[in-house]
Amino acid sequence: MYLKSIEVQGFKSFANKIVFEFHQGITGIVGPNGSGKSNVADAVRWVLGEQSVKQLRGSSMQDVIFAGTENRKPLSYAYVAITLDNSDHKLAIDYEEVTVARRLYRSGESEYLINGSPCRLKEVSELFYDTGIGKEGYSIIGQGQIDRILSGKPEERRELFDEAAGIVKFKKRKATAQKKLENERDNLVRVNDILSELE
Ligand code: ATP
Repeated sequence: MYLKSIEVQGFKSFANKIVFEFHQGITGIVGPNGSGKSNVADAVRWVLGEQSVKQLRGSSMQDVIFAGTENRKPLSYAYVAITLDNSDHKLAIDYEEVTVARRLYRSGESEYLINGSPCRLKEVSELFYDTGIGKEGYSIIGQGQIDRILSGKPEERRELFDEAAGIVKFKKRKATAQKKLENERDNLVRVNDILSELE
């Protein structure tokens, strides 16, 4: 699996539709300060479901939408799509190529798409569990993140190893099952209360 392309339109400094194509090997993005290099990494983070405005270096989620310049009006929505080669089927989906997209309007309306079909954020997150790619994965190491990892709490470091070891999806499923079990226990207590009232 590898990242084939990133398409951005109306996202941060990228007003026009632009497609970054990646090939085998290493690709570097170079440019003067403030030209938008970090915005490319932000676009990938965002499309993978980043909800933290701070991580995206803004003060509200709408800050990711192109805000306009002296000679260009602001745009009404931001759109990012990343396409991954999945010929090794590392992503548990029956497609050789997977495109994940996210769109956000100024009104706050937003949507996620997997290969063109609307889906929930949960489905995007689940697609990338244990691949290291998700928004909490380690495939995007931001400025200062190495320091944070090294000086962070052991539990936070543990999360990184869990992801690399491929056990995150099991932990998430366990947590969901435990929550359901708890709800069922509560229901049972309620049913027993009603029964004892009736007896
Ligand atoms: P450096 O080398 O200094 O880290 P960089 O090339 O990584 O810089 P970025 O931080 O990616 O640059 O981009 C910053 C630029 O993006 C700024 O010029 C800022 O005005 C612009 N920008 C950020 N959000 C928006 C937005 N919503 N609309 C328009 N431009 C934006």
